[in-house]
Formats: sequence, C-alpha cells, structure tokens
Amino acid sequence: MEKRLKERLEELAENPVQWGCRLAPFTSFGIGGPADALVQVESGEELSNLLEFFMDNSIAWRFIGRGSNLLVADSGFSGVVLLFGKTLSQIELLSDPEAVDIRVRVGAGCSLAKLLNWCTENSYSGLEFAAGIPGSLGGAVVMNAGAWGGEMADILSSIKVLSLHSGVEHLARKKLDFRYRLWGNQGSGERKRIVLSADICLKPGNKEAIQEECREYLTQRKLKQPKVTKNGGSFFKNPEGDSAGRLIEASGLKGTRRGGAMVSPVHANFLVNTGNATANDVCKLMDIVIRQVKKDSGVQLFPEVHFL
Ligand SMILES: Cc1cc2nc3c(=O)[nH]c(=O)nc-3n(C[C@H](O)[C@H](O)[C@H](O)COP(=O)(O)OP(=O)(O)OC[C@H]3O[C@@H](n4cnc5c(N)ncnc54)[C@H](O)[C@@H]3O)c2cc1C
Repeated sequence: MEKRLKERLEELAENPVQWGCRLAPFTSFGIGGPADALVQVESGEELSNLLEFFMDNSIAWRFIGRGSNLLVADSGFSGVVLLFGKTLSQIELLSDPEAVDIRVRVGAGCSLAKLLNWCTENSYSGLEFAAGIPGSLGGAVVMNAGAWGGEMADILSSIKVLSLHSGVEHLARKKLDFRYRLWGNQGSGERKRIVLSADICLKPGNKEAIQEECREYLTQRKLKQPKVTKNGGSFFKNPEGDSAGRLIEASGLKGTRRGGAMVSPVHANFLVNTGNATANDVCKLMDIVIRQVKKDSGVQLFPEVHFL
C-alpha cells in the first residue's frame, strides 16, 4: 500500500492499524498468513468511512468475526481485514424485563458465549442451542449458526446492517433469506452487508432449566467433538437427509492426514490442525475427502467453512 494511503488509513481508523498482522491468532484453526493491515472497528460511522476509502482507492477488504468458521490462506490476505472492537459488542434489553416477549439488541461483535451467559443470568430462554458454539453474534447471523434443532433464524426479529451501496438498513426477519448455515441475501461487492447488531426475541424462562439444558449440550459436545481445539467446527455442510460425518466415516477417512491436518478420529466432519498444519494441508485433505466421498457414495460435499 502506498505511503499516503497508509497514512490516510491510520487517520480513519480509531484503533491503531496493525500492519502485516498474522491472521492465524484470529482464527480457531490457528492457521493463516498476514493481512496487509488489520483494523478493529468501533462504530458504524468508522466502518462506513473505511469502506468508502477502500472503494475509492481500490483496496481489497474482508470482514471477519471471531474466525471460528474461517480458513485463512498461508499467503494471508492482500488487503485490509476488519473486525469489530469492544464498542460493537454490547447487550441492551429493549423490552420490559418481565414482558412475555423479551427483545434484546446485541452488537455484532458480542461473543455467543457472553450473550448466552447474559441470557442465563437473566433467565431468558431461546439461545440454549448455541451453548458451545464459538464465534460472534455477527458471524452467527451470517452463518445462520445452529445446533440441536435450533438456529439463529428462529430467534432473530431484525438486524441492522451496513453496506456501501445502501448505507445503514434495518431489515426485519421476514426480509432475510435464511437457509441451512447460510444467509442467502447478504449481498456481494458494494452490496455486501455487514451486520452491526441484531434484535433477538427470547422468552422468560427458568434459570436452572436453562443451565441444565446448556450443560447437557456441552456434555454432548465433549463426547462427540475432538479434543484437538484447533479446528473450524463442522468442515462440510450436511447433505440433505444425511450427515457429512457419517459419509466421511463410511469412506474410512477418520484419521487420514495431510501434513499437519487430520480428519478427526473422534468426529469425521472435523478437519483438525494437529499443531503445525498449513492452509494448504487442510485444502489437500478437504480435496481427498470430497473425492473419496463422491466416489464411494455419489454425494458431493460442500464446505461450510469460509475461505479467506
Ligand atoms: C469447535 C467448534 C464448534 C462449532 N460448532 C458449531 C455448531 O454447532 N453450529 C454452527 O452453526 N457452527 C458451529 N461452529 C462454526 C462457527 O462457530 C459458527 O459458524 C460461528 O457462527 C461463526 O462466527 P464467527 O464470528 O467466528 O465468524 P467468522 O468465522 O469470523 O466468519 C464467518 C463468515 O461470516 C462473516 N462475518 C462475520 N461477522 C460478520 C459480520 N458482523 N457481518 C458480516 N459478515 C460477517 C465472515 O466474513 C465470514 O464469511 C463451530 C466452530 C468450532 C470451532
């Protein structure tokens, strides 16, 4: 990036710009080379100014949450990576605390774990399915994250988004095209919408019952998911009526390795970084899995993980 553009970026960013920042520590895989720059954004206005600056100067950018569904290339990202700082992580109760329908506004940078804790402390039910799902609220909206029959689409009432094309928009749930692990109308290019906050709808519940349900989900995760913590969760989407893990296991791929990447022997839909995996290792392993499953069962697997 030219010196004058670097200087302008530093002026526009509220937080110090992290030049040549390695992205591996910002992902749950622990993989990924450097971005030209990384900026922790603190407000919608700052984000809007940055996006305009990037467009005017043809600078590539990508937005990330907590990197729990992200595989970053070994060569990193030639451009600016944006993520939310602390200010866009707040939780605000919008309704009467005793109301039948509890409405809560959550900043997109808030972690699901923090939000679930808050819900439990206040005895609000509806988000229990998210126990153990890492990541930010914004990422959970974009991925329509879910488990145990629940998903984000069930509890959202509206979202506040920002795009270069339309500025700030408030979109009601009925305008949002949610599918399995996908928000279908997020847009792309200038129309790409970044989630700033979401309003969710919960119900008053019983604190002990909420805690018990969360505990049960966490226990199930401990039993079924790999102990190797460096991974991106389920790597492939489940094909309709089947499970990617079952198909991969049926192809005898559990424990298959490429470099430092391995198909988890515990749960076949987890491709794990055993310590020193590169993104190249993971991609090679992904290709092996896709080819073998296609050959054995005729089913085409598609990654759930996003790539940067
Ligand atoms: C151990 C483990 C278990 C998991 N279990 C589950 C599970 O049970 N169910 C499930 O659904 N997922 C699961 N995941 C995957 C992951 O946690 C979710 O998809 C999560 O919602 C991703 O959020 P994130 O903030 O980490 O997003 P990231 O991985 O940072 O980003 C994912 C995508 O969302 C985009 N994005 C992020 N934030 C925003 C924003 N504010 N506005 C616009 N775009 C944005 C990014 O550009 C990227 O394309 C698991 C992951 C791990 C590591």
